[in-house]
Amino acid sequence: MQFIPKKKIAGIFLALALAIGGCSNNAVPTTSPPKVEESSKQVSTADSQTATTKDTAPTTVAPGQKLRISYIDVGQADSILIQIPNGKNVLIDAGNNGDANTITSYLKKQGVSKLDIVIATHPHEDHIGSMDKVINTFDIGQVIMPRKDSTTQTYKDMITAIQNKGLKITEAKAGLKLELGSEVNALLIAPNSVSYEDVNNYSAVLKLSYGTNTFLFEGDAQEQSENEMVNSGFNLKADVLKVGHHGSHTSSSIAFLAKVQPKYAVISVGQGNSYGHPAQTTIARLTNIGSKVYRTDQSGTIVAEADGTNITFNVIANEVQPRAPSTTTSTPPPAAPSSTTSNPAPVPASSAALVHYVVNTKSLKFHLPTCSGLPTTNRADKDSTRENLIKEGYSPCGICKP
Ligand SMILES: [Zn+2]
Ligand SMILES: [Zn+2]
Repeated sequence: MQFIPKKKIAGIFLALALAIGGCSNNAVPTTSPPKVEESSKQVSTADSQTATTKDTAPTTVAPGQKLRISYIDVGQADSILIQIPNGKNVLIDAGNNGDANTITSYLKKQGVSKLDIVIATHPHEDHIGSMDKVINTFDIGQVIMPRKDSTTQTYKDMITAIQNKGLKITEAKAGLKLELGSEVNALLIAPNSVSYEDVNNYSAVLKLSYGTNTFLFEGDAQEQSENEMVNSGFNLKADVLKVGHHGSHTSSSIAFLAKVQPKYAVISVGQGNSYGHPAQTTIARLTNIGSKVYRTDQSGTIVAEADGTNITFNVIANEVQPRAPSTTTSTPPPAAPSSTTSNPAPVPASSAALVHYVVNTKSLKFHLPTCSGLPTTNRADKDSTRENLIKEGYSPCGICKP
């Protein structure tokens, strides 16, 4: 059913969480019987479509129109605004409790008055902290969250805000298609299970296509959920990855990153956080597969703009791979901050005359990004010089003659 009566929302989620998640939350009232049939119609529809919606196909977009994604700097937390040219807005997560002003004023500055969809990836404070304030401040269309409750005041505040506005909750689960108009294809590709030990694995993971540009938003999904995504048959390939769990080593598994092949990776993380995020292993894994890494702790709010073909960033990448893996060096150390540009177009970097090349890591050929024979597998992007690539064992493509 589409509409869940106000008073039932909390009960349904509490009861279901108990039914599927065991009794770890002893403080939760157990009066409401589990109502499994409460699964919304949208979810069941998505279920039946799963076989045909394994991917977010490219969309047709109007020239000159730009999709804008803001990875808002909320310190050690997540909050992401997606603005579609058709005027629709999506907010993924709402930072910590103390981030309400940062988020609401940022949204207002971007001209947002309505959030067509709000996604609370999972009920941790650093993701739903200011969701109550956001819901109270803006016109809200739909709320999407996983069927996992919490006993925290933060969670209760969010549920109260949802109830007070008479909003419906749509369960976040793999296969759910988001209705945002024809300019984008938006599909949840996780969670794929109904019960997890680690709350982070309940994270709603969104894959978004705009033209041929693709984005993946991982929330705090951990290796278990990543493995499920890898085995799910969803096309995980994405130009930009919002890295899972603030760059911790428990996410960004090698198998997952091999499927995503992100050209750009964004890590939402607080300066000097007590968790030590992001992990050096994560940075190394990302840069080793040719991903440029952007970090909110070093760049502040990061804005990506996609025109359907190219993606540009408002800041320069913090971490870029210094050199290709060669036969003589084993694992390159994490890259030092570099000043290369983030533009995917084949422009020389501001310093050192670096050029953007696409390499085939298997055949060891290197191409110009405009080449008609670009590799579709074993592909990586490199900002380097012709001389360096040849030194590293690559040879120039015979078609584009870089
Ligand atoms: Zn988090
Ligand atoms: Zn979390």
